[in-house]
Amino acid sequence: MNEVAAIVRGLAPSSGVLIGGDWRPGELGTFDVDDPADKSVVAAVANAGTGQARAAVDAAEAAARAWAGTPPRARSEILHRAFESMRRDREALARLITAENGKSLRDAEAEVTYAAEFLRWYAEEAVRPDGGYGPAPAGGTRTVVTHRPVGIAALVTPWNFPAAMATRKLGPALAAGCTVVLKPAHETPLTALAIARLIEDAGAPAGVVNVVPTTEPADVVGAWLSDPRVRKLSFTGSTAVGRLLLRQAADRVLNCSMELGGNAPFVVLDDADVPAAVDGAMIAKFRGGGQACTAANRFYVHESVVDDFTAQLALRVERLRVGRGAEPATDIGPLISGQAVAGATGLIDDALQRGARIAAQTSVPSELSGHFMAPTVLADVTPEARVVQEEIFAPVAPVVAWRDQDELLAMVNGTEMGLAAYVYSRDLKRAMVMSEAIEAGMVGINRGLVSDPSAPFGGVKQSGLGREGAREGLAEYQETQYFSVDWS
Ligand code: NAD
Repeated sequence: MNEVAAIVRGLAPSSGVLIGGDWRPGELGTFDVDDPADKSVVAAVANAGTGQARAAVDAAEAAARAWAGTPPRARSEILHRAFESMRRDREALARLITAENGKSLRDAEAEVTYAAEFLRWYAEEAVRPDGGYGPAPAGGTRTVVTHRPVGIAALVTPWNFPAAMATRKLGPALAAGCTVVLKPAHETPLTALAIARLIEDAGAPAGVVNVVPTTEPADVVGAWLSDPRVRKLSFTGSTAVGRLLLRQAADRVLNCSMELGGNAPFVVLDDADVPAAVDGAMIAKFRGGGQACTAANRFYVHESVVDDFTAQLALRVERLRVGRGAEPATDIGPLISGQAVAGATGLIDDALQRGARIAAQTSVPSELSGHFMAPTVLADVTPEARVVQEEIFAPVAPVVAWRDQDELLAMVNGTEMGLAAYVYSRDLKRAMVMSEAIEAGMVGINRGLVSDPSAPFGGVKQSGLGREGAREGLAEYQETQYFSVDWS
């Protein structure tokens, strides 16, 4: 714990609302950030209220004009230096993520690498303007199209990827020339504070990045949504909260990007390479203990290979080591809270009552006192079970057998969620035909991972609006303006 305390001191001041380059005490005092592995206090963090929410917008406003006018190359170099710092501090940042989120160090290091890549990608995009110039069809005039920063952006992030969800927004927002106010989840504010410090040290002027940790998200975000100076909301979190914020944003017709919940199907066709599908399933399901919006939530496996697939998956899951994320041998750390454990346990019970059976379940070492849950494979799950209808967010893999392709697609698409999906087949054409029929923003084909900074991440239906990553991610922070120029 001393080691983590030192990292906290080094990377993120233990009491800091970051406003206009100052690290201020919280107007509501402090709140504790707990280690989900043992419920100990990692750090006390400043707790901001609505006064500081508004002060953060004041600072973002004061910095906005100069930042929008800063040459793209200069903005790019700041992002690039911040990328290099994240790479340099990879291990310390990973320890910080593990301390406040619980995930294994291996997963945390992978997250830092992924998170840093958003800064590099958008450092590169910042200097590639796109626009248009040409004659209007009727002649006589010229049309010039350009893009400008949307304005002050409010960024709201969840606890499951404390680094990547922050940089996936900060990278494009800063590259586009927006100043930001960021509210990290109260479970994991330290990583966001550390990243903000790295961006400051990389040369971002005071007020460009403001971070407002709080235990009162409705008040702080509410203050931003009703502030006419805020021009953009980028939210990542649950569909329930996203819906609430969209309602509030409607009053101001606010530009919104929404990365919401998922319920990813993992489809295995009869001709799939079963060991490869099991490898993919281990990544898609158990990364971060299953607490990912892209996590495979329901496994639909063709009846001809379902026994083989389930047996191989069970063998792999039984070998998973549950433990404190900070222990190098750990595969699966704790869940974020006791409530999360209780919720997922309830989903298992419901499936068992409907006729499912446990094909594999590891044990949680008795000396562990945090929010641990044993990784579990459920076989013979019925399609109506809550565990396939709801987002699990835990290391539980329900397997459903299928026979008829039309029935399969009805199950796959019979949900209001549409974030990620996975398809396994040795025949790429069959896999593509299936993938195109799936209502999801992203499909991993013979892969258990879809996240990539150079690709447009996002969902359809109630999984969200807009995309993060790629060129599309930059456009979320830009307005299009065109000039009609009289040429006569
Ligand atoms: P959450 O919706 O509870 O919280 C997300 C953020 O919203 C946090 O910062 C929280 O403090 C804030 N918040 C909560 N209530 C609020 C309110 N009334 N007003 C304003 N802000 C409020 O979600 P979570 O439990 O932190 O994260 C898990 C969810 O996030 C899952 O559903 C997961 O699928 C989703 N998620 C989606 C993506 C994606 O890219 N689509 C990525 C990661 C997580």
